[in-house]
Amino acid sequence: MTPAKQRPISISSSDRAVLDSQKQRFEQRTGERTNWGSFLATVALLGLAAAGVYYFVRATRRSPQAVDVQCSQCHGTFQMAVHQGSDRAIYTTCSGCGAELVVYLETQH
Ligand SMILES: [Zn+2]
Repeated sequence: MTPAKQRPISISSSDRAVLDSQKQRFEQRTGERTNWGSFLATVALLGLAAAGVYYFVRATRRSPQAVDVQCSQCHGTFQMAVHQGSDRAIYTTCSGCGAELVVYLETQH
């Protein structure tokens, strides 16, 4: 039997440019510097290598089961239910304008 091996995700230079611009947008909107490792892990987790159509937004924890999300397109806020132990990024659409959003959940300690 062959042992399972980790497979690196190949990112072409055009993918890389898209990801770079997404990362910059994310940092501008959240006012935070994202480290490439966790950003790429999040993106890879969601299979968003070609993430051009998605908008990254940050959620504010309202309760253990719900977060407030502010849409980066229409700036409307809406509540989203999350399960305990959810992945730290969730794909959703804005209830106001229908934009496709990737909600980045802060890890709670
Ligand atoms: Zn919206």
